[in-house]
Amino acid sequence: MTNGTVPSPDTVVTRFAPSPTGLLHLGHAYAALFAERAARQAAGEAGGRFLLRIEDIDRGRCRQAYEAAIAEDLGWLGLAWEQPVVRQSERFSAYRRGLDRLGELGLLYPCFCTRKDIQAEIARAGQAPHGPDGPLYPGTCRALGEDERRAKIAAGRPYALRLDVAAAAAAATVEGSLTWIEHGRGLEGHAVPAEPEIHGDVVLARKDVPTSYHLAVTLDDAEQGVTLVTRGADLAPATHVHRLLQALLDLPVPHWHHHGLVEDAAGRRLAKRDNALAIRTLRDQGLSPAEVRRMAGFPD
Ligand code: GLU
Repeated sequence: MTNGTVPSPDTVVTRFAPSPTGLLHLGHAYAALFAERAARQAAGEAGGRFLLRIEDIDRGRCRQAYEAAIAEDLGWLGLAWEQPVVRQSERFSAYRRGLDRLGELGLLYPCFCTRKDIQAEIARAGQAPHGPDGPLYPGTCRALGEDERRAKIAAGRPYALRLDVAAAAAAATVEGSLTWIEHGRGLEGHAVPAEPEIHGDVVLARKDVPTSYHLAVTLDDAEQGVTLVTRGADLAPATHVHRLLQALLDLPVPHWHHHGLVEDAAGRRLAKRDNALAIRTLRDQGLSPAEVRRMAGFPD
């Protein structure tokens, strides 16, 4: 286990990683243009590369039609990306290997709790520490004995796999503290301390999907050689967990640039359900790609 290495600054590999659960909107246009520009601006030195990755682990919510629309809308905006496009739904065996490794390190446990069980446990305790996504998992299944776990699994009870974050953080920081290099949020190139405990024991494999956002993104960025992860500031808290997983799995460590988010006229972050600012809608209204790029804040 190592704390990773900083990538050589001469090749910049970025990616745009949407989920095909709806039409892309102006916020996605911004994120894609931002990632592409970061790679293009580095191209003068050693050749930047811009990748597209389809984050479709949630088979119930993803649609082939949306995946096709992503490629079409990005192409219409004037973006080009490397082939082949990686689809997370084709990488479940790689995610399995990552889980096996974390399991061998003794850092995972099966969690049989339903949402209701978790709420009841929090109510019983009278309080729960809060993380970036709400109350933290109270750790109920971390305390189960081996026999109890086996009995529940044998009885066919569905389970998720959670990371024992305290044990994982202790294992990962044996060789020094964990930090990441942040280029956004006014922190141009500064080291930010990773504090994965703020999330509690995160789920790394869901009951319904044999991986999770955190695990898949971390393994894919490493596999694809991404050196600069650009994404919205709303995902900055996730980086605490990703940095920990990189240390545990001996993965290369990119830099990050968490950028601002496009908001609607009322100052709310855009969501896929607001189709008003979907690239498709703007296009149907007769706007040109240059006009939409300008609206997204990329005039050049
Ligand atoms: N798939 C994520 C999203 O659509 C982005 C993943 C990432 O950039 O890390 O919000």
